[in-house]
Amino acid sequence: MLILLDMDGVLTDFERGFFESWRTLFPEHSPIAPEMRRLHGLVDEYPPQHSAKVRQVYIACGFFRNLQPMPGAIDGVRQIVALGHDIRICTAPLTDYTYCVPEKYEWIDRYLGRKMVQRMILTKDKTLVRGDILVDDKPEVTGACEPEWEHVLYDQPFNRHLPARRMTWRTWQQVLVQPELTADSVTLGR
Ligand SMILES: [Mg+2]
Repeated sequence: MLILLDMDGVLTDFERGFFESWRTLFPEHSPIAPEMRRLHGLVDEYPPQHSAKVRQVYIACGFFRNLQPMPGAIDGVRQIVALGHDIRICTAPLTDYTYCVPEKYEWIDRYLGRKMVQRMILTKDKTLVRGDILVDDKPEVTGACEPEWEHVLYDQPFNRHLPARRMTWRTWQQVLVQPELTADSVTLGR
């Protein structure tokens, strides 16, 4: 199988990173705890008067570089590769790319090695990329084309209400190795 893996919220703990960075930069305003998040887009989730602050957090030098891996992600990727699957990292960089783009490359190099850097696809439109499965925490991944891949939702608090095939790095084997399982049984195994 050709498996496309989203980066933020799937490989990197973007939500925790944002929460911690916000607390450091803006201690006078409490951030929304990751488990209380209800929308994928941070700018949509925070009140309009905080929009500039939200952007300030994630466009900062070092933000993407310093994100921690999601628990189990690095081992999971190594095991998927060992099973013979073809993995591509499919990530949408910020339009404010100055630090985001090089730091995404640095991050993959640091945690998964140079060979995986060769398998990175940076695109704002993932529907243009071919694959069997896209693992992504974004509730709806849309673009110019009808996607060829099946969207497997990476479980996050803000997408938990959606009926979908979903996985975490604890349940990926049930979802990616035995894809005939129903979405319900996978959800229960979370
Ligand atoms: Mg994501």
